[in-house]
Amino acid sequence: MGRYEVVLTVDRSMMSNHHGKEFLGFMATGPAMGIPEKLWQWLAAPKIKVDSEGRPVQAPYGMRKVEAVLLDAGFKAAIIDPDHLHKHLDTMKVMMVGHHDYFAYGPPSSEFWSMTGKEPLNRRLFIKFMDSPVVRKAKEKGVRFIMGGPAAWQWLWELELWKKWGVDTVIEGEVERVIVDLVQKALDGEELPDYVYVGPGDSPSIEEIPVIKAASVNGLVEIMRGCPRGCKFCSVTLRPLRFIPLEKIREEIRVNKKAGIKGVILHSEDVLLYGADGVKPRPEPLLKLHKMVTEEVGPKGDIAWAHASLAAIKYAEEKYGLVSKLMHEYILNEHRNLLGLEVGIETGSPRLAKIIMPAKSLPYKPEEWPDVVEDAFRIMHENYMIPAATLILGLPEEKPEDVVKTLELLDRLKPYRSVIVPMFFVPMGALKKNMWFMREHLKPEHIDVLVKCLRHSIYWAEEIINKFYLKEPYLAPVRLGIKLFLKFAKRGLKTLKPSLEAMIRK
Ligand code: SF4
Repeated sequence: MGRYEVVLTVDRSMMSNHHGKEFLGFMATGPAMGIPEKLWQWLAAPKIKVDSEGRPVQAPYGMRKVEAVLLDAGFKAAIIDPDHLHKHLDTMKVMMVGHHDYFAYGPPSSEFWSMTGKEPLNRRLFIKFMDSPVVRKAKEKGVRFIMGGPAAWQWLWELELWKKWGVDTVIEGEVERVIVDLVQKALDGEELPDYVYVGPGDSPSIEEIPVIKAASVNGLVEIMRGCPRGCKFCSVTLRPLRFIPLEKIREEIRVNKKAGIKGVILHSEDVLLYGADGVKPRPEPLLKLHKMVTEEVGPKGDIAWAHASLAAIKYAEEKYGLVSKLMHEYILNEHRNLLGLEVGIETGSPRLAKIIMPAKSLPYKPEEWPDVVEDAFRIMHENYMIPAATLILGLPEEKPEDVVKTLELLDRLKPYRSVIVPMFFVPMGALKKNMWFMREHLKPEHIDVLVKCLRHSIYWAEEIINKFYLKEPYLAPVRLGIKLFLKFAKRGLKTLKPSLEAMIRK
């Protein structure tokens, strides 16, 4: 039977390794499209292996960090798979949940929801989890519920569910410095605050950020926190910049290796700014980082970057030939034929870029933004880096001519291998008091962007699947499922524009 007083858990959309392919996890941000929901869920978030106590062999990185803080502080804490919570009902006193997107209000879930009119899978699974008999039973027994993670803010939009499920505290921000006190209070039966906002002043120092104790999903390890660019729609920007020392990164890679994970996802808001001089990448720390990583994972382990900025890609390559050097000297080989990463385009309009993200193009001027984007896309294409890029529609102060500039930029990006995902503006960061962008706000030029992005992404997704991705024989069923979805998306493309136009005429 159980022995943990503090249980960290989350619904299946996050407690999964997505078949070892992080990108498939994005499917959980949409509702099932063109294939049955069961198959969609299996593609996005299959069950993960657990031990006899229900502890998953891999778990979301943020939860691993909190688990490490609690274990270091001496708590009887563990991450438990949602299907095995019942084993801990007798001992559990605190249940902690961390999530990227509890209610599907984040991008791109909110956009999928808006466009299809159907609740995305992540929301459905989270609600189902909170309504499950085991979670209800835990509440009846007096277990205290603490909700956190990057999507903590979404609880402010779901006050009824907050009350209905008896959530005690929602905590937003980097929690390392404050979580021990909060959990102690919960265990001692003391009164808990409803909402805790951990501001930049309480961000943990490098020394206060612990090394994870057990494996993270797909070998994700953090190499830095914070971002110096200050885009107004982003909450990361409020946090101070900290570089994780190489030794700590190596330790975490080894924790993952010990659990049998062969690859590494380097997590940062901008991998190329690791050890940088402000917003200018420097070769030395990046070469050292990649040398260490490739030595650790060996020739066969996958390597991915969570995010990189387009301006840093252009600068690093043009100034030092650094992107090709990293790719050809360290990353690419006969087993690794691509590097996946996320990048943010957000807009093709220099005017709007200047207003909402004046530092995103640095060290180049915001006026040069479309050129920065195209140059970075060319560099990535030539070096087998495959970006999943985001665009934001409905940013505050957006005018029709800004959207036209985005359309022009999309034309320039046609030749470059990539997936481009348009998202609707969600009020966050310095813009959190602004209005949500919903499908009823769509204008004809937005529809053109949606159609163009879908056409671009389907074209390149087919090429990527045919030449690079999901090649492992054991992934054949996943490949088939993705191909079925692409077929459906291709058919949908023909009717997307007229149906969206009919919708905005109503
Ligand atoms: S570059 Fe990315 S992480 Fe940095 S502030 Fe802008 S949106 Fe946020």
